[in-house]
Amino acid sequence: MATNNVASSVKFNDLCKVFETICKAKKRDKDSVLVDFIKTYKTQAEHLKATSPNCSTSFYPVLRLILPQVERERGPYGLKEFTLAKRLIKILCLPPEGTEATRLTNSRTSGAQNKDFADAAYWVLRKYFLVDSKLSISDVNEYLDRIAENHGNNDPRGADDQLYKLFQETSAEEQKWLIRIILKDLHLGMGQDRILRLYHPDAADLFSSNNDLCKICETLTDPSVRLHEIEIAIFVPFRPMLSQRCDVVQFNKVFSGNVKMYVETKFDGERFQLHMENGQFKYFSKNGYDYTSTYGSDFTNGIFTPLLKNSFKKDVWKIILDGEMMGWNKSTKKFGSKAMNFDVKHTKTSHVHQPCLCVFDILLLNDDVLTNRPLKDRLLLLDTVLNPVQGTIMISHRKEITSKSAVLDALNASMDREEEGIVFKDVMSLYKPNNRYAGWWKMKLEYFENVMSDLDVIVMGGYYGEGRHRNQIAGFLVAVKDSSTDNEHYISFARIASGLSNEELQTIENNLGPHWKKLNEGDPEEHGLEWGKEKPDLWIPPNKSCVLQVRASELMRSSDFKTEWTLRFPRIQKIRLDKHYNDCLTLTELLELINSAKYV
Ligand code: ATP
Repeated sequence: MATNNVASSVKFNDLCKVFETICKAKKRDKDSVLVDFIKTYKTQAEHLKATSPNCSTSFYPVLRLILPQVERERGPYGLKEFTLAKRLIKILCLPPEGTEATRLTNSRTSGAQNKDFADAAYWVLRKYFLVDSKLSISDVNEYLDRIAENHGNNDPRGADDQLYKLFQETSAEEQKWLIRIILKDLHLGMGQDRILRLYHPDAADLFSSNNDLCKICETLTDPSVRLHEIEIAIFVPFRPMLSQRCDVVQFNKVFSGNVKMYVETKFDGERFQLHMENGQFKYFSKNGYDYTSTYGSDFTNGIFTPLLKNSFKKDVWKIILDGEMMGWNKSTKKFGSKAMNFDVKHTKTSHVHQPCLCVFDILLLNDDVLTNRPLKDRLLLLDTVLNPVQGTIMISHRKEITSKSAVLDALNASMDREEEGIVFKDVMSLYKPNNRYAGWWKMKLEYFENVMSDLDVIVMGGYYGEGRHRNQIAGFLVAVKDSSTDNEHYISFARIASGLSNEELQTIENNLGPHWKKLNEGDPEEHGLEWGKEKPDLWIPPNKSCVLQVRASELMRSSDFKTEWTLRFPRIQKIRLDKHYNDCLTLTELLELINSAKYV
């Protein structure tokens, strides 16, 4: 087969040897085995690149075999343990009642030694197949593609045929690993995040936001170049840096040592990024939607860009700014708030509110990406490049503080001004896109009160309503994320009778409707879901689900939910379709809330 990529020149057998060594290695020695393999692969890639510059050097063909459970590009194979056992019996023409066939079909029940189906199969297969093979990583991926394709085309014979050919070309040892790849569990004793981090320190973070192994290999090619440097490019939207919620516990933690922070207003508008190159503009919302046609691609069009004519200093030809788009009331000369029923993304020139960008960060200036510089240096630069104009483009006012009392004073002052709260930022923080734990905090008065509000939980299950909502999901079993394991894991936390309007229920139906599953359909655990005594009528895989922002009167103990805590009188505040499904409350954060409220 053609060798226009590295994966064609690396033998599948070499990967199987790595799997074997990892399996046998002690927990602490496993990492180095994989790291060595990745290094060898990359060296091979460099050599190949030297002779054929257009070849593909991506690690993706390998990574999708190491993490088959999260591989999304290939469709299902339609092969579970039992069906695979049947196919093998057919391929090997084994007598159906013979010991070997029984060993395959009863692998789970025939003693502890044979607990793993792949192992059981190995002992049968090794008598029938080659000792070694020549198949490359690419060849194996192509076979697996064809098996999945045939299954997708309802062609079981075609799938069998490919499986048979694949087995004819491989050794029993390799077949054991192929079976594990097909069954999507390698039993390596290493979690997904750990494996991803060995590939690149930012791979696990990137995967949590895009779920795309291929993109990870394309984006993160050099472990010494960090994600926050790569993600910033002119006219390409990025996910902005986020703030961690600061309640009593966080507050005491953050201010336990020497700190220097900037305190800023927490603007109640819409997060926007402005990109400009040589007078051409683009605007992106927090989720990467392009609003350039509304705001204007140059000084001659749109409701906003024409107002910026003299806002940039002469020597600025390329810039990316991060900030909050607010509505500025032209007659009162004050900011409006979201509650005032206008949408800053759709205002008109005739409207009393005009868009005003409150800039709080700068990420690119001319040819320099600034994300790797501390906030204080970025902001010094910001001060030199803009000519702020009241009501159009303003730099967020910042105050440097070093003590707890100064933050509390700032919060009180913001309450007096009837603002939402404050944001405070470590002056040394680097800019990390899509990261909530990199030195920015948001603080609202209600985080300090005994009311639980703004809790972002993920829907794991649904309950049918009553009366006219009989056939509709009208209540939800919600979960928090247990981050203590490497794999995604969500545990049940509360049952919420919706409190949503018909329109809002319809919104949920439109988004989640096609993905609800009956309890006997599929395996919730395979999707990382775990509930306790309280079971839903239907369940939903996390990546098809959504986040709900809820409030409740308090937390209370409960043996019905896996967290062993639940909410009293929970209500849904908002459906958060703008949030990524795994950007929800974690178990650690919940336990901190419980501690802070002194419930224990
Ligand atoms: P998040 O954006 O943190 O997921 P959210 O959408 O629930 O949370 P809030 O918790 O109300 O919103 O506030 C966080 C948001 O505050 C940020 O996304 C950002 O848009 C906004 N924000 C307002 N003022 C600032 C500021 N001065 N610095 C940074 N972010 C700010």
